[in-house]
Amino acid sequence: MTSAPSASELDKFRADTRAWLEENCPQAMRSKILDPSEEVWGGRNASFKLPESKLWLERMAAKGWTAPTWPTQYGGGGLSSAEARVLDEELRRINARSALKSFGLWMLGPVLLEYGNEEQRQRFLPGIIRGETRWCQGYSEPGAGSDLASLATRAELQGDHYLINGQKIWTSHADKADWMFCLVRTDPSAKKHDGISFILIDMQSPGVSVRPIQLISGASPFCESFFEDVRVPKENLVGELNHGWSVAKRLLQHERALISKLRDDAPEEDETLPEMALRLINGGEPGPLADHALREKLAQVEMDFLCNKLTLRRSSESIAAGIGPGPETSMFKLYGTELNKRRKELKVLFMGYQGIGWEGEGYSARELQMTRDWLRSRANSIEGGSSEIQLNIIAKRVLGLPGSS
Ligand SMILES: Cc1cc2nc3c(=O)[nH]c(=O)nc-3n(C[C@H](O)[C@H](O)[C@H](O)COP(=O)(O)OP(=O)(O)OC[C@H]3O[C@@H](n4cnc5c(N)ncnc54)[C@H](O)[C@@H]3O)c2cc1C
Repeated sequence: MTSAPSASELDKFRADTRAWLEENCPQAMRSKILDPSEEVWGGRNASFKLPESKLWLERMAAKGWTAPTWPTQYGGGGLSSAEARVLDEELRRINARSALKSFGLWMLGPVLLEYGNEEQRQRFLPGIIRGETRWCQGYSEPGAGSDLASLATRAELQGDHYLINGQKIWTSHADKADWMFCLVRTDPSAKKHDGISFILIDMQSPGVSVRPIQLISGASPFCESFFEDVRVPKENLVGELNHGWSVAKRLLQHERALISKLRDDAPEEDETLPEMALRLINGGEPGPLADHALREKLAQVEMDFLCNKLTLRRSSESIAAGIGPGPETSMFKLYGTELNKRRKELKVLFMGYQGIGWEGEGYSARELQMTRDWLRSRANSIEGGSSEIQLNIIAKRVLGLPGSS
């Protein structure tokens, strides 16, 4: 890790970064994404709805700035946490879009840096940074969601490979992913947390099949993933055999840290909550909100949002400095996702009847998107472990309360 830069070095870094962004961030990439199909997720079959988004990804990846704090030897930016903060501020200043959204960047990469061997880092990290490989997460199974350690997908060592049989569920975007990071049971006779391993599976391997799950809302990223005698090379095991639970938990901490702050960057946030309230409740007039009850709700949500944001900033600086994440990410995940639900609900309240449309001419695309985002926010407190499970973790691992016997 790079040593902390001085104030004058940081000022210079800011000036250089600003100049580079001015020259390299295409104009079309300087606005919030209002249409999720414009997001870039990379992978073998990457789609770029706007040609500028391909250019933007290539330029950011060439600088290593899709993974600003990862070591340069794998193609990362090699920035200190302070420099990464500056980069983030400069990107926000020009309203730059995220060049790449990726489970590889958010979840797998940090875990490979910590638990992977050198060969695995060199093999997988550059592809993640350049957006060439798209990853999905194979954790949940029909009988193992909250109780993840009950997972039953079996991996048997047979010479130079593992033979994998079983099923995963709720695998987001498995139909588009190139690879899966997956939890498998390698020792069925051990206690349930002890016989688990963390393995990387090429989704093009013979015996892997994926079936999209239809939801009542129509569009759905969910899939079921099936493994039938899938041969996975031995060297794709990350960390120690039968000790995958520690890797799995660490990855969840990264995932929870991400989910708790992701909403801050949600696609439709092109105006602040108070701006929206003034537009919809006050007819654009400045001054106190005409509706007293909504005013109180808004003030409370805004204060909670700010406090949460500051706390998250402190935590992400610790993570960038190599401390954590730890079980306290469960607090952020719980608070962040519950707060996000309150924020989204408030927006729908501001919109009145326009907030309850599903389709049809009476609603603008933006209104429909907000209603769908409100409904989608309900899933935030389930994905990455439900709120109840976070409460259990906080009680046990953060507060040290005794468990039930
Ligand atoms: C949007 C979204 C994306 C997802 N993406 C992925 C993915 O890419 N890959 C993947 O592997 N999984 C994914 N999941 C699955 C997710 O991890 C699980 O849904 C989650 O862990 C809950 O498991 P479950 O659905 O089996 O619910 P269950 O475990 O059956 O829980 C049902 C209810 O019981 C409660 N409950 C269960 N146990 C306890 C307990 N001990 N104490 C108190 N309450 C309890 C839960 O809080 C919940 O309310 C995704 C889920 C969502 C919603």
